[in-house]
Amino acid sequence: MIDLHIHTTRSDGQFSPKGTMRLAKKAGVTVAAVTDHDTVAGLAEAAEAAKNLEMDFFPGIELSVQGERELHILGYGIDRESPELLTFCKAQKDSRVERVGHILAYLARKGVPVTIEDVLKVNHGAATGRPHFARTLVEKGYVSSTEEAFDKFLTTDEYYEKVERKKATPAEGMEVLRRAGGVAVLAHPHWLHLSGEALEKLVRRLIADGLSGIEVYYSRHTPEQTREYLSLAKKYDLLVTCGSDFHGYAVKPDISLGTGFDGNLGITDMSIPERLHHAIEKVAR
Ligand code: AMP
Ligand code: ZN
Ligand code: FE
Ligand code: FE
Repeated sequence: MIDLHIHTTRSDGQFSPKGTMRLAKKAGVTVAAVTDHDTVAGLAEAAEAAKNLEMDFFPGIELSVQGERELHILGYGIDRESPELLTFCKAQKDSRVERVGHILAYLARKGVPVTIEDVLKVNHGAATGRPHFARTLVEKGYVSSTEEAFDKFLTTDEYYEKVERKKATPAEGMEVLRRAGGVAVLAHPHWLHLSGEALEKLVRRLIADGLSGIEVYYSRHTPEQTREYLSLAKKYDLLVTCGSDFHGYAVKPDISLGTGFDGNLGITDMSIPERLHHAIEKVAR
């Protein structure tokens, strides 16, 4: 199986890079990519583990960029030592650190106060993401699931308008990926809440800014969505990729490595990683 969208403790996942690769192998994954949010910190350990486990591995990253609320760009084949990429990640980390205070104040305003110490109990030294807060809200007993924490507090209009940090533009993010030798892929179009002409317009704009692919197969995609994204990929000659967005059971209890949600992924089409490899080889840095 192929899983090109996986998180570890180096961002908001539950398991270490090595532990995550072990779990992937156990689950039957043969081609993997670690794509932590705005960081390459887990790639050396994950690559080494994947090699020892005889898995094919793509060094990856997932950038949060300006635009739609959850507009994320996956980068594959990046050089984890690229100075431009490291500078970019440092700025992203600083803005995440700054956001922590805003989120703590916001949650207190909402009547569900948590402290930085609470949050650090589930954050193993990474820059903080909303899933760390979601887990903390569960542990404090304010909500019964991370999903409820997102619905009630972390994906509300008020959250996006008053609390969310300022992000890089898609063009800036994809330029950094290219300079690091990477290929840019639109992550989980499902979370954009766009379809038809509106989605196509966004995809065209992203292509003009350097997009090369689209994550057609994803845990949350319905069969109809998958068909729509596949036809967009064909129309614009984009790479097709697949990923579970595994974070671990404490974060996304219903998402499994390789197989996604309720077995809806399980992608084995080796032309997906082969085409991705070719595209990476052709990147002009
Ligand atoms: P952040 O890096 O703080 O922007 O948080 C992004 C993370 O939050 C990603 O891992 C998403 O999968 C997760 N996330 C965003 N929206 C939701 C949602 N509605 N339900 C569960 N997880 C979500
Ligand atoms: Zn995440
Ligand atoms: Fe994402
Ligand atoms: Fe992700």
